[in-house]
Amino acid sequence: MITRDIQLAVDSLDRNDVVGMPTETVYGLAGNAFSEQAVRRIFEVKQRPAYNPLIVHINGFADLNVVASDIPEEAVILARHFWPGPLTVVLKKKSCIPDLVTAGKATVAVRAPDHPVAQELLRRTSYPLAAPSANPFGTISPTSAAHVERYFGDTIPCVLDGGTCRRGIESTIVGFGDDGRPVILRLGSITPGEIEEVAGHVTIRNNAMAAPDAPGMLSRHYSPKTELIITSNPEMTLEMYAGRKVGLLTFSERVPDRPGLIQVVLSDKGDMNEAAAALYAALHDLDQLSADIIVTSLLPETGLGMAINDKLRRAAEKD
Ligand code: AMP
Ligand code: MG
Repeated sequence: MITRDIQLAVDSLDRNDVVGMPTETVYGLAGNAFSEQAVRRIFEVKQRPAYNPLIVHINGFADLNVVASDIPEEAVILARHFWPGPLTVVLKKKSCIPDLVTAGKATVAVRAPDHPVAQELLRRTSYPLAAPSANPFGTISPTSAAHVERYFGDTIPCVLDGGTCRRGIESTIVGFGDDGRPVILRLGSITPGEIEEVAGHVTIRNNAMAAPDAPGMLSRHYSPKTELIITSNPEMTLEMYAGRKVGLLTFSERVPDRPGLIQVVLSDKGDMNEAAAALYAALHDLDQLSADIIVTSLLPETGLGMAINDKLRRAAEKD
């Protein structure tokens, strides 16, 4: 059930159930981060393997020391600058966070979301919210309440409607080396350049393209049911599928129309922020067409383009 009644969601959370929660990145499947029962339910509903830890959502910097300890100075600087916002920091966890949340790791991933509905929900609950993206494991992330409802329907008590996600792709996950320096573990909404500007330096972990904690195992992710292929020359690739029903997803360029071709352009003016915000909804829409194939091309490998391309590559990965 899609609702705007925040108290309804609070009541479900207080009963250790899980709810759909809007954030500025993607919709989350939220539960009481202090409750093993609620966290187990998140893994169960999402069919997420237990080795893949969850992000814990808090209402602001002041709550960080509730869940994490030994916070390096660089983490303080980054969190103060980017929160509320799409930056997740990985820090030493406190014992109030069940091992289930962190998949047995000594670290916890934390962020403060920049969405009024998520913030109100966090204000009305007396605990932080563990929330992975609100999609079955491996499928396209949800950027509207309708996406979440389509995935989970009556399996969850409600999805809080907070409109379309403004950012549209996941948070950037940053860990800290022994020297306290920031390392990007997963590319996301905040670009490496933005982090470097604030922290003075940043490195991108080699396998940031794969899952941070299970290298290689999760390379297929964000995937439509329809086969998705990446090409550097859409027009030429389309010729191979003449007479077939084809979805075409491009950054800003358009090819001549022809029967059986459905084109989605992410940003006519070539704006990467606009493209990120439109990405998952475009994949959801194209996947609904029952096309024979979806063809896409990559963006320039700069700024937010790096994160968008990472999502596209993983969406195109075969099982
Ligand atoms: P999701 O919320 O579905 O986008 O997934 C959360 C991401 O955060 C996953 O890729 C996790 O591997 C990552 N993550 C969560 N906790 C940690 C942690 N303690 N260390 C490193 N990565 C983490
Ligand atoms: Mg996810």
